[in-house]
Amino acid sequence: MIDFSISAETAALRDEIRAFVIDEIVPYETDPRLTQHGPTDELRGELVELARKRDLLTLQAPKRFGGREPSHVDQAVLYEAAGWSTLGPVALNCAAPDEGNMFLLSKIATEEQAETFLRPVIEGHQRSVFAMTEPDGAGSDPKQLTTKAVFDGTNYTINGQKWLITGATGAKTWIIMADVEPNPHGPSGPTLFLCDGNTPGIVIERVMSTMDRNYVEGHGVVRFDDVTLPQSALLGDVGEALRYAQLRLAPARLTHCMRWLGAAERAQSIAVEHARTRTAFGKPIGEHQGVSFMLADNEIGLQQSRLAIWWACWTLDQGARGRHESSMVKASVSEELYKVADRCVQVLGGMGISDETPVAMIFRDMRAFRLYDGPTEVHKHAIAVQILRRLEDRR
Ligand SMILES: Cc1cc2nc3c(=O)[nH]c(=O)nc-3n(C[C@H](O)[C@H](O)[C@H](O)COP(=O)(O)OP(=O)(O)OC[C@H]3O[C@@H](n4cnc5c(N)ncnc54)[C@H](O)[C@@H]3O)c2cc1C
Repeated sequence: MIDFSISAETAALRDEIRAFVIDEIVPYETDPRLTQHGPTDELRGELVELARKRDLLTLQAPKRFGGREPSHVDQAVLYEAAGWSTLGPVALNCAAPDEGNMFLLSKIATEEQAETFLRPVIEGHQRSVFAMTEPDGAGSDPKQLTTKAVFDGTNYTINGQKWLITGATGAKTWIIMADVEPNPHGPSGPTLFLCDGNTPGIVIERVMSTMDRNYVEGHGVVRFDDVTLPQSALLGDVGEALRYAQLRLAPARLTHCMRWLGAAERAQSIAVEHARTRTAFGKPIGEHQGVSFMLADNEIGLQQSRLAIWWACWTLDQGARGRHESSMVKASVSEELYKVADRCVQVLGGMGISDETPVAMIFRDMRAFRLYDGPTEVHKHAIAVQILRRLEDRR
């Protein structure tokens, strides 16, 4: 039986997070260090210290690393509260890509790798990247990977180009996906490597200009020029990168949904207040049916999204892999919340497209959400493949 009742402890923590975000983080939304390329590292550092003082940093971390290791459903409740400001997850150290990277590293890194590359990220002292996407190769289809790793029996030498690599500038913990070429010394295939961002040969060519601005230091175009790594840099087994990427993505997709639900809720609260106070044609605009329907559709969309997220989280909490469920929820929630943000812009009139409120920023960020961790079409395609396979199996 599905039971979505929230424990008193989780409810108290949710309220604490929401109050912290509103009182201490929202004022930073107009800080000039929230740039077109997202919050700077300096701003991030300041926000992280505020969360540390309140003992709210990296709550999701495994207990062995000092975290509280909440269930997936509890995580949904807490991340929604953090997402009220796009800077909330940055402060609490539960923003992408660090959050998904911490999850993956806690599952597959060796003890030694975890101490060097994971613990400092959990403690908020350094950031991490996941470098998979390529301009002409891996994207929706990671099997198109073109970045190569040549193994000479001692070292791996990596060459290739990546882009859209979130937070590349200044990150120390790097997870790189590259295709190990067939070789006489061992196995080959798509593989993850773990190394320091200062490793010679990692070249950040530029930071892309993008429409979103909530990810620390934006999204980089990166070149690997003979990046030479020892065998101890292998993250997990050779040839297993695509499986590990899925392991990372199922919960990571859901955590995006959780955080953006909080942001969409914020946009709705601003739209509701505007509809109550702004007048046109002799009455508050919220009393015009056209506006009231938009607000009602938003409320329905928010609640449907919340329940969908909780349902997928519940399946993960039961021990399922949740790949199919998280695909359905990511596709539906990203589209639904985008519509919510769009209607909020409409209710605000011309002000909606300005930075007078955070709604325009939320709207732009929400547009990007429909693309990353799998564009909607890719998830729908995967869902359809699953449905057809089930039908075949029944025959
Ligand atoms: C804000 C943001 C942050 C990102 N951060 C990172 C990061 O840190 N690290 C990283 O490696 N990558 C990152 N990415 C890249 C992201 O993972 C890719 O954008 C995504 O996987 C899609 O790949 P692509 O952009 O190459 O699109 P393509 O693969 O070129 O796809 C283009 C379009 O084709 C359509 N399409 C593709 N396949 C199918 C299908 N099977 N059925 C129907 N339609 C299909 C979809 O409409 C899709 O949008 C980020 C992207 C964004 C927007």
